[in-house]
Amino acid sequence: MPVPARRHSRSHVRRRRAHDALKPTNVGLCTTCQAPLLPHTACKNCGTYKGKQVIDTTRDLKREAKKAAPVHNHDHTQEGSDPKDEKAS
Ligand SMILES: [Zn+2]
Repeated sequence: MPVPARRHSRSHVRRRRAHDALKPTNVGLCTTCQAPLLPHTACKNCGTYKGKQVIDTTRDLKREAKKAAPVHNHDHTQEGSDPKDEKAS
């Protein structure tokens, strides 16, 4: 049984694909800190959107500081804290 050589001609396919190219992303600049920024998004660098503060950017800094210097000022060398020592005495 004979079958057609191709469903669409090369010309038909190429005309369709003429509109498939991607356009470059429209990257703007933050009005506050001039960092590159996509439209309609809050700036991750300074946490502002349209000049208003919408994200607490100090939150991550606080967490990092807490991780770096944990509050640990009690003594681990106390006698009686080890269960083995309590049984012996
Ligand atoms: Zn910014």
